[in-house]
Amino acid sequence: MVRIISVANQKGGVGKTTTTINLGTALAATGEKVLIIDLDPQGNASTGVGIDRQARETSSYDLVVSNASVEEAAVKTKVPGLSIIPSTLDLLGVEQSIANLKDRAYRVRKSLREGAGSAQALGYTYVLLDCPPSLNLLTINALAASDAILVPLQCEFFALEGLSQLLQTVDHVRGTLNPDLKVHGIVLTMYDVRNSLAKQVVADVRAHLGDKVYETIIPRNVRISEAPSFGKPALLYDVNCAGSRAYIDLASEVIRREKQFRRIAA
Ligand code: ADP
Ligand code: MG
Repeated sequence: MVRIISVANQKGGVGKTTTTINLGTALAATGEKVLIIDLDPQGNASTGVGIDRQARETSSYDLVVSNASVEEAAVKTKVPGLSIIPSTLDLLGVEQSIANLKDRAYRVRKSLREGAGSAQALGYTYVLLDCPPSLNLLTINALAASDAILVPLQCEFFALEGLSQLLQTVDHVRGTLNPDLKVHGIVLTMYDVRNSLAKQVVADVRAHLGDKVYETIIPRNVRISEAPSFGKPALLYDVNCAGSRAYIDLASEVIRREKQFRRIAA
């Protein structure tokens, strides 16, 4: 069964795109069939998996606005089992294009979940939605389409700031658009062992959010930040670096949690 997960946090620079790319790659490496949908106009996820701007013929804009199908819009990446629906700057105008439509919050959900062209029918087992740094209509579309949200939190002093607003949005979406939406988990990113504050942040976040926080912590790792400039996920660029290993661990934790959710639902 396909699982659709939004990688979201309205703060920029917290590791959403990095997590989408590398979790997607790690899941694909374990044999899952993964689709990333780049919902950020900046298109960093698309660039990060090596899709040149010229190659983005059908984009996430077309999926959301023009009823393009998942099959038409998805392109294969160099990673076996990993495809992406890339984004273009057109996405900046998406709100205007769909603002007056009755189903404006369900555009992504419909493309992904309905009919013969659904992600499930196409054989995907995981769909990861890389959200923009904003609680805008695109993020709402992503949450309305998803089984769960995965929230990257940067290990810094203001880590928890803004999280309550995000969780309120999740509650709102659950109450109105998508009752099944779960908080899959919070993943701490860019952990720096040399920074004494980082330990305190981890302790605070765990104290606040308990078992919603993944055990895996993603370290700050220069190899992770270098990889996108080569158009490669870190796991292809350097599979043995600490960052890649952490994303492999995160993938097993995500799969484990999925099984738990299913047991609870059954
Ligand atoms: P977001 O999508 O939330 O805006 P990104 O994933 O683009 O955040 O990350 C922001 C910046 O931080 C990027 O330059 C990225 O390469 C870098 N980065 C992300 N995670 C790490 C990490 N674990 N170690 C080092 N740099 C990282
Ligand atoms: Mg991003």
